[in-house]
Amino acid sequence: NGKVALVTGAVRGIGLGIVAWLIAEGWQVVLADIDRKRGSKVAKALGSNAWFVGMDVAQENQVAMGVAEVLGQFGRLDALVCNAALADPYNSPLAELKLGHWNQVLGVNLTGPLLLAKHCSAYLQAHRGAMVNIASTRAHQSEPNSEAYAASKGGLLGLTHALAISLGPDVRVNAVSPGWIDSRSPGERQQAPLSARSHAQHPAGRVGMVEDVAALVAWLLSDRAGFVTGQEFIVDGGMTRKMIYLD
Ligand code: NAD
Repeated sequence: NGKVALVTGAVRGIGLGIVAWLIAEGWQVVLADIDRKRGSKVAKALGSNAWFVGMDVAQENQVAMGVAEVLGQFGRLDALVCNAALADPYNSPLAELKLGHWNQVLGVNLTGPLLLAKHCSAYLQAHRGAMVNIASTRAHQSEPNSEAYAASKGGLLGLTHALAISLGPDVRVNAVSPGWIDSRSPGERQQAPLSARSHAQHPAGRVGMVEDVAALVAWLLSDRAGFVTGQEFIVDGGMTRKMIYLD
């Protein structure tokens, strides 16, 4: 389709799944990630419709420079997917939680998408573009010792509707909240296959795959989703709809 998408946290896992899906749909895709070494390799392997830009999404100067590089290279930006995160949901027990850890998680997972939106907004508005933020079902439910991650993703849902209102009608902004997605590499999956119980506990009968998230992101970025903005879409095989009583 000739359009340009910028995906953060793009060199592995769900981000890479989104990149592959968008390239298959004809997008030119910029992979943004803090992992520069892997980034150049992955982009090269994906071919001429993939381009890598290194950035720490929590650092405004790096975001500004990276977005400027993208505009210099392509001259336009049609879509932004904020997927980069410190994705390990667990922190120390509350009494030992370091403020530095809290700030780091909030910095990458919440401030990152704000900075990307800030520096991309004019270009997205120019092309009536769209933005998708990757949140988590942990914005709604928790296990013990996950305060920083849960708060960052809850904040991201608030940021999503705030941006939808500020950037509308030119830019649509939505969030996708994955549940358990097996985003490991094929090698890792082969080494430690998931149990039948892990799959069966899901109302949909299985753990999620990166393609489950990527398909929805691609739809939200397309004009077919033209009347959809400010929303959250949960992709969790029904887990957050399942009532659980142990006795
Ligand atoms: P992952 O850890 O495999 O990949 C995250 C990517 O983000 C990595 O490539 C990493 O280098 C990059 N990154 C980290 N910090 C960065 C920074 N400061 N600047 C730029 N890039 C940075 O994670 P994943 O499991 O693929 O998750 C992707 C997204 O989906 C995250 O937002 C995560 O919170 C969310 N999510 C994942 C699951 C799941 O089950 N995997 C569930 C719910 C939500």
